[in-house]
Amino acid sequence: MSRHEVVIIGGGPAGLTAGLYTSRAGLKTVLIERGIFGGQMVNASQVDNYPGFPEGVSGFDLASLMHQQATKYGLETVNAEVAAIKPEHAYDVITSEGNFEAEAVIIAAGSEYRKLGVPGEEKLLGRGVSYCATCDGFLFQNMDVAVIGGGDTAITDAIELGQHASKVYIIHRRDQLRAGKVLQQRALAHPKLEPVWDAVVDEVTGDNKVSGLRLRNVKTGKITNLKVAGVFVAVGIVPNSKCFAGIVELDETGLIKTNEMMATSAPGIFATGDIRRNSPRQVASAVGDGATAALSAFKYLRERS
Ligand code: NAP
Repeated sequence: MSRHEVVIIGGGPAGLTAGLYTSRAGLKTVLIERGIFGGQMVNASQVDNYPGFPEGVSGFDLASLMHQQATKYGLETVNAEVAAIKPEHAYDVITSEGNFEAEAVIIAAGSEYRKLGVPGEEKLLGRGVSYCATCDGFLFQNMDVAVIGGGDTAITDAIELGQHASKVYIIHRRDQLRAGKVLQQRALAHPKLEPVWDAVVDEVTGDNKVSGLRLRNVKTGKITNLKVAGVFVAVGIVPNSKCFAGIVELDETGLIKTNEMMATSAPGIFATGDIRRNSPRQVASAVGDGATAALSAFKYLRERS
């Protein structure tokens, strides 16, 4: 078991910023990430609203810069999957690559895309099924595509896809969009965007690539087949918080409850970024949250010693 003053779980912008702050403050810190450093940010071809980059920056480049800056001050990083946090005299963070003893823990494990859970979705992932319009939209030049969902993400994606595709169907399970008013107005006035109301996806069809969708009208039960080459699923996110249930308090959707200092219900455990309740889910806010969590962890450790 290796011992650290701070263990950070998750290497997106929130976790990397927390690591920059704690290691620069001289706290022995390890950051555990199961995938690629940068989190969901690496999927963004262009980030235009992160301050300091007036021309915009690719998510991948921004992630590399954040990683470089955090590790410069001695932050250790480990690629591993966290299975649990166990309260001992401090906390034991149990991972696929061994266990880490921590005096304070910062959870920055983010969230992942919610799946539809219908036949064809998993099989055709990367063959027409995508969860990221920014990453894959350009592959569908002059083709018909569908976006599933009616929230801000779905409508932003649909408008973005309108730059590439010949037609973008918005498949929504109700007859009113959830997205904000301005986005709704833009979408409904867009010549390439066509809503399909009260419809759910029963199946994504196709053998080696997507050929269409089998849709069911939730009011009439009528089944229709829609020919599309691409399907962009945007039905919300699921926080990666399952393994923290019972240790910190979660809300009904699985988001971690924190106060404004990022403190959770467990002393010495802080949560930051997309995994916490009321996160605006922006890179800039994740960075701010990460700094706050690190400063709170620093204060907690100083008051304990
Ligand atoms: P969201 O607001 O939770 O919307 C999810 C959408 O998917 C809803 O329309 C929902 O339908 C639908 N849906 C959920 N489960 C479904 C299922 N199994 N089958 C079919 N449809 C399903 O998620 P989001 O759009 O990703 O946004 C998440 C948060 O990020 C929000 O707070 C949003 O404001 C924010 N955000 C903001 C921006 C922006 O400001 N530009 C951009 C992206 C995201 P119902 O409406 O019927 O529930």
